[in-house]
Amino acid sequence: MRLSTTLKLRAVMVMAGEKSRALFERAQRLMPGGVNSPVRAFRAVGGTPFFVARGEDCFLWDVDGNRYVDFVCSWGALILGHAHPEVVAAVKAAVERGTTYGAPTELEVRLAEQIQSAFPTMEMLRLVNSGTEATMSALRVARGYTGRGKVIKFEGCYHGHADYLLVKAGSGATTFGIPDSAGVPESFSQETVVLPYNDAEAFNRMMDTIGDQVAAVIVEPVAGNMGVVLPQQKFLQALREQTRKHGAVLIFDEVITGFRLTYGGAQHLFGIEPDMTCLGKIVGGGFPLAAYGGRRDIMQAVAPLGPVYQAGTLSGNPVAVTAGLTTLRILERDKPYAELERRTNWLTDAIADAARAFNIPVQINRIASMFTAFFTDQPVTDYASAKRSDTKRFARFFHALLQQGVFLPPSQFEAAFLSVAHSDEVLAQVAEAMRQAMRQVAESE
Ligand SMILES: *Cc1c(COP(=O)(O)O)cnc(C)c1O
Repeated sequence: MRLSTTLKLRAVMVMAGEKSRALFERAQRLMPGGVNSPVRAFRAVGGTPFFVARGEDCFLWDVDGNRYVDFVCSWGALILGHAHPEVVAAVKAAVERGTTYGAPTELEVRLAEQIQSAFPTMEMLRLVNSGTEATMSALRVARGYTGRGKVIKFEGCYHGHADYLLVKAGSGATTFGIPDSAGVPESFSQETVVLPYNDAEAFNRMMDTIGDQVAAVIVEPVAGNMGVVLPQQKFLQALREQTRKHGAVLIFDEVITGFRLTYGGAQHLFGIEPDMTCLGKIVGGGFPLAAYGGRRDIMQAVAPLGPVYQAGTLSGNPVAVTAGLTTLRILERDKPYAELERRTNWLTDAIADAARAFNIPVQINRIASMFTAFFTDQPVTDYASAKRSDTKRFARFFHALLQQGVFLPPSQFEAAFLSVAHSDEVLAQVAEAMRQAMRQVAESE
């Protein structure tokens, strides 16, 4: 067991195993950064990413045989952990019936009904293949419905990589210091207005000025892509009131928070009803599936009912739908949310204790089963305060944990996630690893 044998380790940089390093060499020749999504390349923390051989419960094994307790959980998608037996069985059976038809199925109707019953604000919805596709489509629908062009988003929020939304974006864009991506024409980004998160006054002022040109306001109702940042109630309320007043569409991007915070989303926890909602990650049960939807009168703008075009060869894919539907049913049946929150609070309290013990200033933002430990002494309430974090310290902490078989997201500006498979026993070992990692951070300075 790696966790118990690593206390004597002191080196700060982990050496990835031989097989991972060899694969990374080959990968870098063919794929930019050797990866298919930027943060996976470990650039923010240095070192070589491990290549995964398999996952089970809360663990990943790399190709060199090392085991890691996984707090990435495929960026929040795997709330049931890796290879949940019921999901695996359902998917196996689905594959036997054929993998894609390009024609409607009963399963799609059942998943749509399951989503709608958890998100009553999604009176109509569409299944798509990724969160990016969901937000991109929702935005197009909002524009088609309102006949307006401008979009308001908030600094540090990430809504996938569609052109109009890659302006001051979070996630990898923040990690790599390219919040405004190259390749997005200025005429596009001029349509996107970016405001600070949690600043109701700035938002109110902007809506008073350009409210009648705004097609949509899109927000992560709990931000997860600059690290976890909680919304102020009056901020979310201002979004609701002003969009209603000016006839703009309020889009909640709940790609992370949907079925993560509760069996529903942030809109239930904070009691605010958006006009449209985007879902992804958990709703696909570990497969490429996402959804967007909202008010019936808005969604009726989508073809073939209306003039807004949106389509997909693999949309509503039967295998992905099976994984998503099975996952949602398990969540509805087992109601794991209170227990997930208890465990997350226990772990994050342990991180805070460890940080205090070694005099390392840390701010922990947490809600339900997602959290970020920011290496800063000031509260983190928006992008500017998140960016004050000591990313070098974070990198040392990250590697000290990785050496002990604990895998945090490889960036300060990402959320860590628990799954139902993160048992008390494993968490107790992780807490000890966190303590050792804080000690190493303190001793290396
Ligand atoms: C992950 C994410 C997306 C993009 O989803 P992909 O499936 O990666 O395209 C959009 N919005 C939020 C809030 C996300 O966290």
